[in-house]
Amino acid sequence: AKAKGRNTLRFFDPVMQATLQARLQLENDLHKALAEGQFKLHLQPQVNAAGEVLGAEALIRWLSPNGLVSPLQFIPLAEETGLIVPIGCWVIEAACDLLLEWAQDPRMAHLQLAVNVSAKQFRQHDFIEQILGTIISKQVNPERLKLELTESVVLDDIEDTINKMNVLKEAGLSFSMDDFGTGYSSLSYLAELPLQQLKIDQSFVRGISSNPINAIIVQTVIGMANNLDIESIAEGVETETQFQFLKAHGCKLFQGYYFGRPVPAENFQVGTLHPITF
Ligand code: C2E
Ligand code: CA
Ligand code: CA
Ligand code: CA
Repeated sequence: AKAKGRNTLRFFDPVMQATLQARLQLENDLHKALAEGQFKLHLQPQVNAAGEVLGAEALIRWLSPNGLVSPLQFIPLAEETGLIVPIGCWVIEAACDLLLEWAQDPRMAHLQLAVNVSAKQFRQHDFIEQILGTIISKQVNPERLKLELTESVVLDDIEDTINKMNVLKEAGLSFSMDDFGTGYSSLSYLAELPLQQLKIDQSFVRGISSNPINAIIVQTVIGMANNLDIESIAEGVETETQFQFLKAHGCKLFQGYYFGRPVPAENFQVGTLHPITF
């Protein structure tokens, strides 16, 4: 009985109470954001070794009444509460709307757009219907859409993952393994997944010149991707040194502040980016 009393007391801890209230407030605000259209997509260019823009990653932003909110501040709670599912649907619809615009523009029509998919969203039993339904109703070319999955999404239920990936791949979509190297994945399943791209996490890219182990990891991952016929892309490329190292070791695509920060979709520029001028 004593132990129980203790637990009850803990419930009224004012710090916890405040945290709980802040979370409830944020959850409320997110519902409202969705209903009132306060989300926006920003785009960050993905370039080849010559600096040519071949595509972009769509990154969600929340234009809240109090200013721009980073996804790092609301995606975790959205995942916990399940709100990530309708938010994820919005992202896919907004991405398809963009692709539709791009299809009319000869300068943009060839670009690929990558969107992030969270575990809860991917695990929905109707995920495939949702995404293909959107693509078909908007008449978007599925080959322009790439889905970024993290290792935790993939490993969470590997059989379901492979099944869903195969169906979507058959429909023309492609997949990128996001944040590669940060999870607990074994290399053995990598070959089993119908992956087209492997994204080297920015934590490894950051350490290229300061941490010899990181440089070796990056080199090894690029080599492995190339051997498996999977396209390699590095994220978080910020310096000429990092870019040169990655390029010299066979990395195919690059994304990071060195080439361009995420910008509102309407400001997105194509062509060849010259990092020297940034
Ligand atoms: P992520 O998928 O790993 O996205 C890359 C993050 O690194 C982005 O942060 C991007 O702005 C940032 N970044 C890009 N280049 C550089 C660089 O050179 N240096 C540094 N330091 N950072 C760079 P952002 O936009 O704040 O997004 C954070 C995370 O939020 C994303 O990480 C992703 O996990 C999640 N996220 C963003 N948009 C969505 C979405 O639509 N759906 C879901 N489920 N998650 C999203
Ligand atoms: Ca990503
Ligand atoms: Ca990433
Ligand atoms: Ca990341």
